[in-house]
Amino acid sequence: MKLLIMGPPGVGKGTQAKILSQSLNIIHLSTGEILRSEIQMDTKIGKIAKSFIDHGNLVPDNLILDIISEKISIETQNEGYLFDGFPRTIPQATGFDQLLIDRGHNLNAAINLTADENELIKRIIDRGKSSGRSDEAIDIVKKRQKIYWEQTAPLIDYYQKKNILKNINGIGEVEEITERILQVIY
Ligand code: ADP
Repeated sequence: MKLLIMGPPGVGKGTQAKILSQSLNIIHLSTGEILRSEIQMDTKIGKIAKSFIDHGNLVPDNLILDIISEKISIETQNEGYLFDGFPRTIPQATGFDQLLIDRGHNLNAAINLTADENELIKRIIDRGKSSGRSDEAIDIVKKRQKIYWEQTAPLIDYYQKKNILKNINGIGEVEEITERILQVIY
C-alpha cells in the first residue's frame, strides 16, 4: 500500500498518518518531522530549513525532493509507505511522480482531509500551547494557512485528475476519521 495524506495545517494529518501506518504496517514519512529532527541535530539541512519554517514558509522544493529521493530508496524499497506533508507544491508532486516512475512504484490513494478554516486555526493554537513548535504562534499559523491555499490546495485537482483522490471529512473523533479513511482505501 502506497499512500499520501494531505490537508491544511491542523487538520490532523500527522495523527491519522501515525495510526494508519501502524495499522497498515507501512512506513510513515513526515517531511515536517524529518525537518524538525534535522533542526534539532543542527545539520546543514536543518539550518537551512529552520529559516523557512520559523517564518511559516515552505522549505525549497529541491531540498525536499533530495530528502525524499534518499528516503524512498533506502527505506521503502518494496514496502508500503505513507507520505505525510509531502508533496506540498505542484513542482514537488511532479518531482515525486518522476521518482515513482523511476522506481516502478504506483500510488494507491491520495487522502485529502478537509475541515473548516476557523476550526483549524483554533486547533493549532490549542496544540501550539503544548507542542513547543516554533511555528505555532497565531500570525505564523495564519501565514501557513494562506500558503496552504495558494501552493498546496492545487494538488487536490492534480490527484483528482489522476483518479486517486479520496476526500475525507476531518471533523469528528480520531477513531471515526481513521475508520472513514480505511473504508475508502480498501
Ligand atoms: P503542518 O501540516 O501542521 O503544517 P508539518 O509538520 O507537516 O505541519 O510542516 C511544518 C513545516 O515544515 C511547514 O510549515 C513547512 O515550513 C515545512 N515543510 C514540511 N513539509 C514540507 C514540504 N513538503 N515542502 C516544504 N516545506 C515543508
